[in-house]
Amino acid sequence: MIKKIRLRGEYDFDKVAGEVLRSLKVEMATGFDELEIFNEIIGRRVITHLKVTSCGNEFFFKKSSVARAEERFGAEVNRLVKKNLYLLLISNFALDEVPYGIMHGVRPTKIIQRWLSEGYGVTSQGVIDRDRITRRICSDFLTERGKAQLLTEVAIRQLPIIKSGAGKIGVYVGIPFCKTRCLYCSFPSQALPADKVIAEFMTALNCDMAAATEAINRYGLKVQTIYVGGGTPTALPENFFAEMLAAVYENFHGANVEEFTVECGRPDTISAEKISVMKKFAVTRVSVNPQTMHQKTLDIIGRKHTVADVERAFKELRAAGAWQINMDLIIGLPGERLADFKATLEKILELKPDDVTIHSLAIKRGSKLQTRLADELNRLEDFNLPDDEEVRAMADYAGEVLRGENFSPYYLYRQGYMSGQIENVGWCKRGAEGIYNVQIMSERQTILGVGAAASTKIPDKWQIRTAFNAKDLKTYIKDLERYIAKREAVMAQVYGGVKNGIRDARRDD
Ligand code: SF4
Repeated sequence: MIKKIRLRGEYDFDKVAGEVLRSLKVEMATGFDELEIFNEIIGRRVITHLKVTSCGNEFFFKKSSVARAEERFGAEVNRLVKKNLYLLLISNFALDEVPYGIMHGVRPTKIIQRWLSEGYGVTSQGVIDRDRITRRICSDFLTERGKAQLLTEVAIRQLPIIKSGAGKIGVYVGIPFCKTRCLYCSFPSQALPADKVIAEFMTALNCDMAAATEAINRYGLKVQTIYVGGGTPTALPENFFAEMLAAVYENFHGANVEEFTVECGRPDTISAEKISVMKKFAVTRVSVNPQTMHQKTLDIIGRKHTVADVERAFKELRAAGAWQINMDLIIGLPGERLADFKATLEKILELKPDDVTIHSLAIKRGSKLQTRLADELNRLEDFNLPDDEEVRAMADYAGEVLRGENFSPYYLYRQGYMSGQIENVGWCKRGAEGIYNVQIMSERQTILGVGAAASTKIPDKWQIRTAFNAKDLKTYIKDLERYIAKREAVMAQVYGGVKNGIRDARRDD
């Protein structure tokens, strides 16, 4: 283990250097006693110096790169510090390269979409040069060619969907309840409380939705998509679920709505009554999320439903009508290996979903898994997790099989601490793309958030204005007026011309 990591110099590169060191697992994979990093900026050149102390010996290394003239200099400096450091560590200490190189943001496809909007990679005849874009991703971010091709494919496939939403908005409704908490969950969801608390939440949600509707009407906004997520919205008892969906419909549904999604998530929360309510209110997209089709794993990860529940819920949803059904799977779950994942995928494809999202397990802060690892009584080995190489093999296998079944990738995002350091990818057949999934990842459309833990994000040229509702249920209910006022303030900044508090939308995080 490294005893000390020091960053010297007049600039603060702790975050970017930390991302590189974490992704290469430098602390675990090297026997360094001390690592010292120093960066210099001379004109448009960034020079990174590395001093490594190991077994009493000191080693010095240096790498220099030049910023691209067409990019913002600040962003370029961060990229080059990462690139220099990554190359120094890879080439001098035999560390394993990682699939995405120095690309660490959540929404990497945004980088390509920005390039295209600036004319990069578009020929004078208006044709997109995919290979040129892929090559630049590889060279700027040291990303593997296969991953760069995947990013390019997804970014380009999203363009017409992004365009279809221009001038329209999406609405997100956050229902923060689940039946039980999954081992890996870091979402702000809680076990279903007593009816009295649910009723208080519903009162707050109705107030929140009324305020959002009033603002939508005031600014003349058109709603393209509605997404009811959480949590697991279908975890609500029947009466509350019907009340909630009726209210969402009345507030937001209108002539411009092209997609109305309800996350059903846990199959054991899907009943004939809820299916009929969803049909009544014109829901167009639902999900059943098995994560795995192995009962042993489901029990370990605390899902508290059976494989049979997945099949029953899927068939009942399919029989109920012509909506699109998404299924989420996770690769890298405790105890699972490639053969297990192959069996899961085979069973899922027999059901014929329209959309399959392949997630890679992420050990995130706030999850039971992370807490159990942090208490030092449990170690990573105790969970029998597959290693990075095996997780990558699972992702490759998924891609190969899904393409063979006429699915192609249409949205993609990354998270910290993902197994295999890969990505989460949504795969679907042509025409089954989830519009909301694309809009939320591309950050080119306003998303108004109502409900607990909901976020409002409003693009303002290349900047994003944000307002976040409380993650904690009690705080959301108690301080609702304050959260509504925050949302109103950011809406006024964009739609009413008031300027303040902006995040740069060119960033991919
Ligand atoms: S179903 Fe989803 S939101 Fe609910 S506990 Fe599991 S991971 Fe979290």
